[in-house]
Order: sequence, then C-alpha cells, then structure tokens
Amino acid sequence: GSLLSAEQLRKAYGPTFALDGAEFSIHPGEVVAVMGPSGSGKSTLLHCLAGIVPPDSGTITYNGRELSAMNDAQRSALRRSDFGFVFQFGQLVPELTCVENVALPLRLNGTPRKEAERTALTWMERLEVDDLGKKRPGEVSGGQGQRVAVARSLVTGPRVLFADEPTGALDSLNGERVMELLTDAARTTNAAVVLVTHEARVAAYSDREIVVRDGKSRDMERAI
Ligand code: ADP
Ligand code: ADP
Repeated sequence: GSLLSAEQLRKAYGPTFALDGAEFSIHPGEVVAVMGPSGSGKSTLLHCLAGIVPPDSGTITYNGRELSAMNDAQRSALRRSDFGFVFQFGQLVPELTCVENVALPLRLNGTPRKEAERTALTWMERLEVDDLGKKRPGEVSGGQGQRVAVARSLVTGPRVLFADEPTGALDSLNGERVMELLTDAARTTNAAVVLVTHEARVAAYSDREIVVRDGKSRDMERAI
C-alpha cells in the first residue's frame, strides 16, 4: 500500500480555495513530482501532507495513521523522526558551519557532537560537499548550499523527503546536479520524495507526476 496518501483535501484561506478536493499518494522509495502553475495549491498540498497545515476537510494517512487523529506534539514528533525538508532558500543557519548545519537535526535528537558530525560528513560525501565542512553558508555557492541542505534533510534517515522548489534559486546546470544527487541519495535509503516544482526539467527526475490546478490534483499516469 501507499506510505502517505490524501483524499478529498480542502483548504480555504478566506474566499480562496488553496485546495479543492486534492488527492495524493506515494509509495516507499517513490519520487513524485507535484506540478502546476503558481498559486495552484502545490505548497499548501505539501504543507498539509507534512502535517504543518491542517486541511479544513479530507483525510491524510501516513503509515496507517490519520494525521488528524494526532495532536500537535505527536505530529511534530512524527516530522522530526520520519520527515525531511528542503526548501527553495534560507534554510541553513548562517552562524553555524556547514557540517554543524548538517549535524543539527541529530544534535537536536540528542546525538553526541562527534557522532553527529561523523554521520553528517558521510551525507556530505554523498552530496559531494564534504570539503565544505568548515565553511559557513555565506561562504559557499547557491548550488553547494542546496546540497548541504539536502544532506541535512536526509541525515536522520527520513521515510519521506519534502522538497518545495529545491532548485528554484539555482541555474539549470546546478539545479540538475542537485536533483541528480538528491534522487540518488533518496533511492539509496528508500526515502519517498514529494517534489514540488513548476519546472518540467526538474520533474523529469521523478517516477510519477501529479498536476495541481485550482486546488485539484490529477495523477498523470492514470490520466493517460
Ligand atoms: P503554489 O505553491 O502552487 O504557488 P500555494 O499553495 O502557495 O500555491 O497557494 C495556493 C493559493 O492559496 C494561492 O492563491 C495563495 O495565495 C493562497 N494561500 C496559500 N497560503 C496562504 C496563506 N497562508 N494565507 C492566505 N492565502 C494563502
Ligand atoms: P511557493 O513559492 O512555494 O509557492 P509562496 O512564496 O507562495 O511559496 O508562499 C510562502 C509561504 O507563504 C507559504 O507558507 C504559504 O502558505 C504562505 N502564503 C502564500 N500565499 C499567501 C498569501 N496570499 N497570504 C499569506 N500567506 C501566503
């Protein structure tokens, strides 16, 4: 069965329906691209699936459990243990070095510093940024910073990686490199990837595409 699924999601902001009957499902290890024009509801769908934003109605099921049946503390514990996040920009802590940034989720889980930084470095090697360990985010390029952010999102071994326009601030060459390394790393650990993008070139790294339009989603494989 699916690892994470949603049925009939509705979410309104005042008179605006950000989601209007959206559906979603993803299997372990699958990379699903959520596509659609700006304002169609992609980010809202991602935030609902990740338990960050509660939908007005509809159901979201993760690993057999309904998110709406959990309280806030349970949902945030689930995010820390099972989910990873990558955004477009502004996600690294500028005061910390790159290796400290990658190690941060492990440190917050109580892992001792040496062990956390050792694990962080193995992820940085996979993302080909292990030589940047001692630099601060302000001293690395945009593409390098995103690869550091991807390493940080995977360091705790999440079952689902949520990536919202992870290459949106990069040129196409750096964007493709980030996508190659991100999808390789996710496949190595069988993590599912929910990839929000409006670029076909980025969606090409997915196994399946879901198109969102006016808050309604359509599974492109089933539509064909
Ligand atoms: P996308 O990610 O496809 O650009 P969003 O999910 O960000 O779309 O937004 C869908 C619609 O909902 C847009 O009209 C947007 O302005 C609106 N919206 C999203 N989040 C909020 C919010 N927190 N408050 C008010 N309106 C919002
Ligand atoms: P994206 O580029 O991923 O679509 P946005 O820049 O649209 O993201 O939105 C960034 C954040 O602002 C999100 O948390 C979204 O829910 C919120 N947001 C989007 N549209 C509005 C809006 N009209 N009013 C208030 N918040 C919004």
